[in-house]
Amino acid sequence: MHKEKSCKFQSFASTGDPKLGPKRLEALQDQIAKTNLDGFLVPRSDSFRGEYVAEKDQRLRWLTGFEGSAGICVLVNKRVGIFVDGRYTIQAKNQTLPPIEIINWPNIKVTDWIMEITNKGKIGFDPWLHSVDEIEQYRKSTENTNIVLQPTENLIDIIWTDQPAPPNAKAFRYEAKFAGATQVNKRKILAKELKDNGNSAAVITLPEGIAWLLNIRGGDVEHLPIVHAFAILHSNYKVDLFVDKTKVEDLKKHFGNGIKLYNQNDFLSHLKQLTGSICIDKASLPFAAFEALLSSKVTLDPRGDITALPKACKNEIELSRAREAHLIDAVAMCKFLCWLNSQSESKLTEIDLVISLETFRSQNPEFYDISFETICASGPNAALPHYRVNYDSNRAIEKNEVILIDSGGQYKGGTTDITRTTALGEVSGEIKKAFTLVLKGMISISRLKFPKGMAGCDLDAFARVHLWSEGLDFAHGTGHGVGQFLSVHEGPQRLSRTSKVPFETGMIISNEPGFYKEGHFGIRIENLLAVTKAPKLENSTVEEMFIFETLNFVPIDKNLIDISLMTNEEKDWLNEYHLKCRKKIRENLEENEKIWLDHATKKIE
Ligand code: ZN
Ligand code: ZN
Repeated sequence: MHKEKSCKFQSFASTGDPKLGPKRLEALQDQIAKTNLDGFLVPRSDSFRGEYVAEKDQRLRWLTGFEGSAGICVLVNKRVGIFVDGRYTIQAKNQTLPPIEIINWPNIKVTDWIMEITNKGKIGFDPWLHSVDEIEQYRKSTENTNIVLQPTENLIDIIWTDQPAPPNAKAFRYEAKFAGATQVNKRKILAKELKDNGNSAAVITLPEGIAWLLNIRGGDVEHLPIVHAFAILHSNYKVDLFVDKTKVEDLKKHFGNGIKLYNQNDFLSHLKQLTGSICIDKASLPFAAFEALLSSKVTLDPRGDITALPKACKNEIELSRAREAHLIDAVAMCKFLCWLNSQSESKLTEIDLVISLETFRSQNPEFYDISFETICASGPNAALPHYRVNYDSNRAIEKNEVILIDSGGQYKGGTTDITRTTALGEVSGEIKKAFTLVLKGMISISRLKFPKGMAGCDLDAFARVHLWSEGLDFAHGTGHGVGQFLSVHEGPQRLSRTSKVPFETGMIISNEPGFYKEGHFGIRIENLLAVTKAPKLENSTVEEMFIFETLNFVPIDKNLIDISLMTNEEKDWLNEYHLKCRKKIRENLEENEKIWLDHATKKIE
């Protein structure tokens, strides 16, 4: 359907080719035998553990045809299993061919499956593509067998003859007017923390952490402006940066004397020379780097990624830049929703909507990229929380059914993420009720006032209680952290029942409850929130209280609300929110859009 339609930042074509899978698997089996192994692991991840990987690192897709953003292919004794989570089971079935078996992860673990097939043999893995945590887990679960997990060279890279070159996008300076602090200051603060903890250095292998620390950005993967690199931060605040030097040659002045450049290939030899106590993050450190450290004279302090928390806690300048970015993005969203809601006939498809939204965002020169591939799902497609439209799945927008749009932009000032669920015409009472229950949860979180020290696990239930009362729930967390012109999914905080990281001021978190009825419809409403100090209450016995500041200002579709289910407080919140949308956005709209906004933000009684 309409294969010619496309946009700049998002592709609707399939990039994997399942038909090539069997031949490539055969070549890999030959290579496994040649290397005297009994199996091999092919994960989706690269050495940098991001959601987006470079073309050169699309080994899983190349081998199997599967295009999802998470998964691992395991070959052992001629059996081939691809492990994917619930989001991807159907997609994996459609995108791969026998002999590949689809395995439901994490219900079935990689090592359990291997142990069902055999209790002995050598399973090879590329130590750059697995974290320390992963390999330690695999080794622990197989310790009572004769299965050996053995680091080896990457067998895919041997048989993939036209493997693309590594990305080499130019890195650029992220100016202090956006970052709110110089890279020298950031290095000093973290170096002091290292000293205070008795560490001589920290190894940082997540590009988002390096980008934040050094105030740099790049273009090595899609939608996430990072530079592929590794770094060692010493307690004297000097940094050794291991990177393709051609990417950073324009940054010499920015780096100054404190940052020394090395080729990425020199990383292991530098790790081997370290001494003292070294801070590492086992969840992200490639096993290859861990092995190098083990062969040196260091003691390891597995305290985690030291950039994660300071990166998450935005300073005042970062926050004010983020507010500006969200306003720019809200204007585009309002223009888009006005355009969409004025469509009377259903001649549009999901792809048309994605293209239109990108066009509205592109009208502002500050727009840099989308922050992830837009989710635009209509009718039953909306019941798939991670649905991405492609030419085969593309669906015409019908009247009287939901349209769920989850999207965001990259702006130098900030990364945005917003979901609105809307409809052309009238939706059923069942949908209205579900929409209202989701909205009530979303408002509950938005209105919360809570003591310092609370974590995601303490607050997540507030988003669900209204659904719970009706025997309903949703199967994802309520929210994730968001970066600053970086990843739209950022830790360490999350708004979920498993997150124990306390909220701190400056953290940005999404608030996105939903409800999904398989085969019928789906609803999600999402705003981003910044954690801020609450004004001190007169008789408060709590030392410090926090509230959430809402960052997105885009009307929530009143046509989908069952007002009889809303309390006065909830109506007040919505009316106040809509009033703010009007105040902040209206002047940036065209006449017809102003009329739409006035109507969309009209007070509900
Ligand atoms: Zn979103
Ligand atoms: Zn989100």
